[in-house]
Amino acid sequence: MPRKAKRARSPEEAASSDGGGETLLEGVARSRLRAGSSVLAFAFNKKRVRLVSSSSELKEASGGISYWMSRDQRVQDNWAFLYAQRLALQQKLPLHVCFCLVPKFLDATIRHYGFMLKGLQEVAEECKELHIPFHLLIGLAKDVLPQFINEHDIGGLVTDFSPLRVPLQWVDDVRKNLPDDVPFVQVDAHNIVPCWFASSKQEYGARTIRKKIHDQLPQFLTEFPAVSRHPHNSKFTAEQSVDWDACYASLQVDRTVGEVDWATPGGTAGLRVLQSFIGERLKFFNTDRNNPNKAALSNLSPWFHFGQVSVQRAVLEVQKYGGKFRESVDAFIEEAVVRRELADNFCFYNETYDKLEGAYAWARNTLKDHTKDRRTHIYTLEQLEAGKTHDPLWNAAQLQMVHEGKMHGFLRMYWAKKILEWTSTPETALKYAIYLNDRFELDGRDPNGYVGCMWSICGIHDQGWAERAVFGKIRYMNYAGCKRKFDVEQFERRYHPKKFSH
Ligand SMILES: Cc1cc2nc3c(=O)[nH]c(=O)nc-3n(C[C@H](O)[C@H](O)[C@H](O)COP(=O)(O)OP(=O)(O)OC[C@H]3O[C@@H](n4cnc5c(N)ncnc54)[C@H](O)[C@@H]3O)c2cc1C
Repeated sequence: MPRKAKRARSPEEAASSDGGGETLLEGVARSRLRAGSSVLAFAFNKKRVRLVSSSSELKEASGGISYWMSRDQRVQDNWAFLYAQRLALQQKLPLHVCFCLVPKFLDATIRHYGFMLKGLQEVAEECKELHIPFHLLIGLAKDVLPQFINEHDIGGLVTDFSPLRVPLQWVDDVRKNLPDDVPFVQVDAHNIVPCWFASSKQEYGARTIRKKIHDQLPQFLTEFPAVSRHPHNSKFTAEQSVDWDACYASLQVDRTVGEVDWATPGGTAGLRVLQSFIGERLKFFNTDRNNPNKAALSNLSPWFHFGQVSVQRAVLEVQKYGGKFRESVDAFIEEAVVRRELADNFCFYNETYDKLEGAYAWARNTLKDHTKDRRTHIYTLEQLEAGKTHDPLWNAAQLQMVHEGKMHGFLRMYWAKKILEWTSTPETALKYAIYLNDRFELDGRDPNGYVGCMWSICGIHDQGWAERAVFGKIRYMNYAGCKRKFDVEQFERRYHPKKFSH
């Protein structure tokens, strides 16, 4: 008797497969190999690269090429890593990866450091398998990296790109301390269209950058070749294998903001989240992404923020479902590409990206006009942090962030706008919002966060609306509006203070 033909699996079944069929991780590994088993033969788009140093000539016969990993903490799907390997292969040199760990960074807590270190541990293991020594250098890059380059006669340095002022300063400091004959380049491995290429100026909003980005996608939204096993052995290996536990114990960070258990650190776990998004939530993304009670979001922001998952990879995978979930795929590309790259654009071209001075004149003026308006409530930072306001929805959102490290995207807007309403000045509101966001959100300290707070409080990338007290012409949001959009009480019950009273 002929066997019954096996039913073809739907895209969602394939995407959510974790047994039997090919998983997203396996499919991704195969796609990379199809694009190129080595970056040497791959047509690398040099527009992703910009020269930081004055010298551009690689020294001959040096001790190797180094990739200084910073924002993009992953091996595969990383254009900066790939470019460094390409240089090393062209010169037949060893490749070394360095990560400079500062034991204390702004107000980062163990929630952030724990996630980062565990992700880096996975990076180190993957590097080992590929015969690429991974060096965890403890200290500021300007102190430890040039020393490493000198000691090991490194002939060229590649790093990734962040538009934020501290990492930009790190790059500049390293540049000044490098030997003159070591070329130093930066590769935008975070954005699909390199930030400096997408636009040469601060864009007014999504409507002015959207077309610029979409026009460039055909040349940049390509498959990645694989970072391959490196054939050129180094004369030296990593000084010793990293003692990750000792490293974790030595951090001088606030341990009162604990790690969260829903988000497993590392690229492998991140790609599994992408798989579950495609298999289970993508179909609801267009219709339900503004409903905090529904599981419709990707949840990928922590892995994107630490560079453990490449946004480009996520988009490549998500767009395969365009035939089935067109609106959701388009909405995801709008958020993950247009809005996210707009945030990088803002921070790169606006030095005061986290200050009221960084806002447009209309927004600064309208906020100033209303500074003296009477507030119905004024809360201290401590009251806000503890989620002790009169508004149960705001408190619930705050508690979600404090305890889970990720507030729902829709509520982030409401949350920040209420801080404007309940503090004495817009400057204070912005300061408090950024402080709380960066302290508790696992994806905090990100261009998206500064822009999110600036959008909510200072009208960045937005337009003027009907004038009202305190907000002036800044877009207003209220509890009644939220009630019209979703079951507010359900959310309030889920994050009720009683649930966290222990
Ligand atoms: C006040 C405020 C603070 C915010 N703070 C942060 C922050 O610290 N870090 C952060 O990554 N995002 C921040 N955002 C933007 C957005 O809310 C989050 O990126 C999103 O909620 C993350 O969840 P997700 O990955 O499930 O998003 P999804 O909805 O699944 O979106 C996918 C990706 O698109 C990008 N994205 C989504 N919405 C936006 C947006 N409005 N602007 C820019 N990029 C976006 C993110 O990279 C996100 O991971 C903030 C927004 C506001 C209004």
